[in-house]
Amino acid sequence: MIRVPGSVRPVGSIITSRMDGEDGEDGAGGAALTPVFVGLGANLGDRRATLRAAVQALHALPRTQLVRVSPLYRSAPVDAGGPDYLNAVAEVATGLAPQALLESLQAIELAAGRERPYRNAPRTLDLDILWFGDQVIDTADLVVPHPRMAERAFVLRPLADLVPDRVDAERLQAVASQGIEHQEGPAWAEGAVLR
Ligand code: ADP
Ligand code: MG
Repeated sequence: MIRVPGSVRPVGSIITSRMDGEDGEDGAGGAALTPVFVGLGANLGDRRATLRAAVQALHALPRTQLVRVSPLYRSAPVDAGGPDYLNAVAEVATGLAPQALLESLQAIELAAGRERPYRNAPRTLDLDILWFGDQVIDTADLVVPHPRMAERAFVLRPLADLVPDRVDAERLQAVASQGIEHQEGPAWAEGAVLR
């Protein structure tokens, strides 16, 4: 089993590499892996269990490994009703192309029972691509960096926990009034990833 050593790392969790490659290679002589940050949210059902399963599903994607998981936060829905969300951000390293990763994330959402009855509807699972390396993507179904991430404390806070240097302090300050509560340290995902 690959364990998340949350207790020894104050911020995020390094998860043992499943692939043998070095220098960013995927171990099969393939292309270098791209660091990708995925926003996770859930506000229906057993939210914590769903997010743990999502972390596991990310790690199980082809040519993809989980790198780190942020602490778990609780936030009130933005522009919508319904129960509070649980949110986190995961860093993965993937050899998948952006569109292929998006489709994989949507498949994971569907498997978690995700429905889209209307915009901003409560959801069992939401997986958003925040950053895909340093790529800028603007297609009909994929926009990266994620267009609304800069306004959302539930994205910026866990992202800042993982990569403080990459989240502008003023940005973080600008969303500080949004109700978001630290729920659990990064060990919330501990044991979710099985070899
Ligand atoms: P939201 O996450 O904005 O509340 P949905 O999860 O229902 O809404 O996603 C709506 C659409 O957003 C998806 O069909 C997807 O094609 C599109 N989309 C655009 N950019 C991204 C991105 N960076 N990550 C995830 N989905 C995206
Ligand atoms: Mg989404």
